[in-house]
Amino acid sequence: MTASSPRAEAVIDLDAVRHNVALLTSRASGAAVMAVVKADAYGHGAVPVARAAAEAGATWLGTCSLAEALELRAAGLDTRLFSWLDVPEVDFAAGIEADVDLGASSTGELTRIAEAAVRAGKRARVHLKIDTGLSRNGCPPAEWPSLVEAAAATPSVEVVAIWSHLACADEPGHPSVDAQAKRFAEAYDLARAAGLDPIRHLANSAALLTRPDLHFDLVRPGIAMYGLNPVDTGDDLRPAMTFRSSVVLTKRLLAGESVSYGHIWTTPQDTTLALVPTGYADGVPRSLSGRMDVWLGGRRRPVAGRVCMDQLVVDCGDEVPEVGDEVVLFGAGGAGAPTAREWADKLGTIDYEIVTSMYRPRVRRRYLGEQS
Ligand SMILES: *Cc1c(COP(=O)(O)O)cnc(C)c1O
Repeated sequence: MTASSPRAEAVIDLDAVRHNVALLTSRASGAAVMAVVKADAYGHGAVPVARAAAEAGATWLGTCSLAEALELRAAGLDTRLFSWLDVPEVDFAAGIEADVDLGASSTGELTRIAEAAVRAGKRARVHLKIDTGLSRNGCPPAEWPSLVEAAAATPSVEVVAIWSHLACADEPGHPSVDAQAKRFAEAYDLARAAGLDPIRHLANSAALLTRPDLHFDLVRPGIAMYGLNPVDTGDDLRPAMTFRSSVVLTKRLLAGESVSYGHIWTTPQDTTLALVPTGYADGVPRSLSGRMDVWLGGRRRPVAGRVCMDQLVVDCGDEVPEVGDEVVLFGAGGAGAPTAREWADKLGTIDYEIVTSMYRPRVRRRYLGEQS
């Protein structure tokens, strides 16, 4: 017994991460694998996941921000590391000193990185991003020739890669994928013509699993590492996160009693309820009230009435669970337990958003399969 016994846990199976990274590496046509661990590894914990990914064959790590990259370096990870998007005020010199490769989408960003490299007394490794049609970050094709020429003429930066990102890779056959690939090829030719000799990277998880022709030198899987398949290819990916809690109280209710805030649900017959001490403050969406199940006692059971901030109630019929019994809110699915995908489908979102939003102060993270 301890005061820190968790009301709810996100259990992260690092063996599942290793399995997924090894599988993705085997599917990468010989391209190197960059494990994307941005957003605290999609809510799974950046440092342990990055270590597991490196153990399983990822030779690069990818983060969105420099702060995320420096967290990995501070934890002792010396894997090649690429960080691609920051505000202008960020101190790129700290990244260059820590051997972090940096992304640049404009001559402005290139200049800031080049100046930081001079301050750091060390050449910066830069990946130039071409916007091939996502229209988010990345250099527009019209400005690309001046960007590659400026980069080639800047001694304090070394252009190691050109890269881009796909808009609709999770819809195999979508015409935008080929259109983006074509613009990417044109951008590569222009970079070569400017005297650069970069590697290329374009593929996220979906393109890694469906478009071997777009693997180039390096692939950047994120979601598939966590065991969630954006394209349902049937690959043996294993969901790494299980969100669980436990029963703290059971009670018998007579038919006709109403349950939880708003009394939106009334017992149709006598039934046993199990109280679970987790709610929307812990990441259980209140909008799933009345339409979610949990896994309890070896079967699915419906959540009765509203999901509250700190509690929810499970209708157990005539079965009486024990106090302390495990309640799985979502996990690998297995025998039929709910999954993050099931939540996402009900909520009209993607499972990326479900797992990424499970980083909550009251939800303890626990790791399985940690190696010393
Ligand atoms: C998030 C991200 C990825 C990984 O995408 P998944 O769909 O999770 O595989 C790859 N590249 C970039 C630039 C990203 O932002």
